[in-house]
Parts: sequence; C-alpha cells; structure tokens
Amino acid sequence: MTSRGISEAAIARIRAAAENRCGYCLTPQRFAMQVLEIEHITPRAAGGTDDEENLWLACRLCNNAKGVKTHGDDPVTGRRVRLFNPRTQKWRRHFYWSDDGVRLMGRTTCGRATVEALNLNNEIALVVRQNWVNAGWHPPDRR
Ligand SMILES: [Zn+2]
Repeated sequence: MTSRGISEAAIARIRAAAENRCGYCLTPQRFAMQVLEIEHITPRAAGGTDDEENLWLACRLCNNAKGVKTHGDDPVTGRRVRLFNPRTQKWRRHFYWSDDGVRLMGRTTCGRATVEALNLNNEIALVVRQNWVNAGWHPPDRR
C-alpha cells in the first residue's frame, strides 16, 4: 500500500504510536531490512480512508498477506470475524507467543482468524523468529 497523500507528520505520529513495529507480528523496525509500511486498517478497496485513525504500521509480509481482507475465519469456531485492529485493540488480549517463542498464537476468535488470514506463521517468519530466539532477541515484551 502506498502512503501517497499521507503527510510526513502523520507518518511520524503513526510510527511513534506503533512503537516502530508491525502491528500484527510485532517485527520491530530495527530487525527488518525493509522500511515498515503504512497500512490501511480497513483497506481502501473496502472503503477505508487515508485518515490517520485508519492507518497503522505493518511489515511487508503482513501488509501483503492482509491485502484487501477485512474479515477472517476462526479455525476453532468457524466464525467469520473482523480482523484485529492494531490501533484500537490490544495485541496481548488477542495473541500470545508459543512456549518456544517462534509461533504467533491466537487467544480469541479475532486473534485466531487474524493469524490465519495474515499467515502470521509463514515459513519466512518461523525461520527468522527462530533465529531471533537463538540470538535472545525474541519474544518481545508481552505488553
Ligand atoms: Zn508483520
């Protein structure tokens, strides 16, 4: 998603509010070789605007996997629910790390549906997170 039309000041505020990490997988900017992207919480294709309250920070993998999705299916209950909103919902309420710190787990219908929809345990993420665990960098604080 492009951030065209979004002011530098707004981008700076979003980065600060997001603590400079992906709102979904929590990848910090300091561990990412790419600039974390400004993402639309409600995709523009689904009527989302460029207003700051619809914007957050996401890594390329999460942003691409999210695409134009607004909802996902909880694999446990089968319920179709709105995806996690990193601006208005607390990460820790919906997700947790597996005991080995490598897998991102859903705690709620919303969390589980988001793990699936955004493919938060994709092959690349698992390898990278395992290396972060080995290096003592992960999991992050469980705010
Ligand atoms: Zn991410």
